[in-house]
Amino acid sequence: MSILSDSEEALLARARAIGAEFVCEPESVAKGVREYLRLMDKGLSEPGQAMTMIPTYVTAVPNGTEKGVYLAVDLGGTNFRVCSIDLHGDSKFTLTQAKTPIPKELMTGNSKDLFSFLAKQVAYFIEKHHSQTIDAATPTNFLKLGFTFSFPVDQVALNKGHLLRWTKGFDIPDAVGKDVCELLQKEIDALGLPVRVVALVNDTVGTLMARSYASPGKSGTLLGAIFGTGTNGAYVEKLSRIPKLKKMSEESGTKFDHSSGVMVINTEWGAFDNAMKVLPDTPYDRALDKNSVNPGMQMFEKRVSGMFLGEILRNAIVALMDHGLFKSAHGTSIDENGPLFTAWSIDTSALSTIQADYTSEYTLTKQLLEQQLGVSAATTGDAMAIKTLVYGIGKRSARLSAIPIAATALATGAYENYKKAKADAVPGQEVEKIDIGVDGSVVEYYPGFERYLREALRDIQPLVPGAAGLEDAIRIGIAKDGSGVGAALIALVA
Ligand code: ADP
Ligand code: MG
Repeated sequence: MSILSDSEEALLARARAIGAEFVCEPESVAKGVREYLRLMDKGLSEPGQAMTMIPTYVTAVPNGTEKGVYLAVDLGGTNFRVCSIDLHGDSKFTLTQAKTPIPKELMTGNSKDLFSFLAKQVAYFIEKHHSQTIDAATPTNFLKLGFTFSFPVDQVALNKGHLLRWTKGFDIPDAVGKDVCELLQKEIDALGLPVRVVALVNDTVGTLMARSYASPGKSGTLLGAIFGTGTNGAYVEKLSRIPKLKKMSEESGTKFDHSSGVMVINTEWGAFDNAMKVLPDTPYDRALDKNSVNPGMQMFEKRVSGMFLGEILRNAIVALMDHGLFKSAHGTSIDENGPLFTAWSIDTSALSTIQADYTSEYTLTKQLLEQQLGVSAATTGDAMAIKTLVYGIGKRSARLSAIPIAATALATGAYENYKKAKADAVPGQEVEKIDIGVDGSVVEYYPGFERYLREALRDIQPLVPGAAGLEDAIRIGIAKDGSGVGAALIALVA
């Protein structure tokens, strides 16, 4: 441990004060849960709410016995993935995939450029990996493709959905209101590919399906949740708790199978509490929102997901530079036109790297500052101060993520059912936990994300009615390759 100078001690005190602004107290999480329960009911009753609670017309989740070979593509926000999936019917599958970053200029251009780029990736994939095997495995002469499209759409049929609005930094005005399956199919046809887009899948629904196919338990998965570029969730809801559904399905003329008594709802929880009644707010959040393409929208997402955590950190670092950051050594130099002074230039993976830096001299953080952030010869004090900020931002993200998870387990009655099963169980009998599938680089790679999330679940237990013992009832598992497998499973029922 190095000895810090007085100026470094002062810097660190200031960093702790900023870090404290990100502290998300138990009562704050509990308030979030209560507000989420309210907005959930509102969204299920009335169309057109910010937290949209979109009916997906998917009325069952898989049990692991499904079989077949399918194509799937996933437009997530950062990458475009193309894959083929062979479902073996025993909760296992084989998957071949290719991943391409989406060129930045296509995110804000026109729809034709974006979708023809996507279709070309499908063409490369088929050519490279699978033309023979897949052709042989498919009885008909075209391949069924499930399209995972992780933006809010008004879905009117399994393979038809009109884009409501862009999120996650995309802005292609001419696509809004159009059927995104048709946009993709048109470009696929233009290339003469033997591929038919049979299902439109939100990544959250895909995650739910994939986890349900692969999960260890006998009963289905309750919730699929994404913590990647953006954040969102889809869960299994009782038809009787979706008052708006009757009118909506009549208006769109969409028929669906009522026999299961349930439907998967895509919550669009990124827009939870856009009114900012309960979400924590700091000057660094406000600066981010002001500079975003959609001020006042996706306020939950802007505090939780990968697209935003780096920018929150950048704002906090800039604030700390007024209080001695990078000033304790003469040799420290900062690139004035570098990432620290360029909005959106810090990737959330940087937070993971810093969070995981347990070297005594903060070598990894100093290295990252030098290589990615344009700061050379930062001191250990500087690095410690930055880690203090990172810790606050990352932990707040994970704790906020407990809000929709707790609320969903409570509102659906899943936790009530668990408690009943537990009361009825004979001594020694295992009661199956509430299964939750998660996907996305933030939950997968941010050090301690699930641990902090679980801490928050425990914190709310005494503060929210009916929540005593909740944390222990919840099982969280990564839905490996969730969007691909999920899209395949939905293409299968198409
Ligand atoms: P998508 O949202 O396109 O499906 P991902 O789930 O991979 O893709 O999420 C990408 C987001 O995750 C980006 O915002 C990126 O900054 C962030 N990210 C990537 N790697 C890491 C990491 N190691 N730790 C935390 N966040 C990460
Ligand atoms: Mg994704």
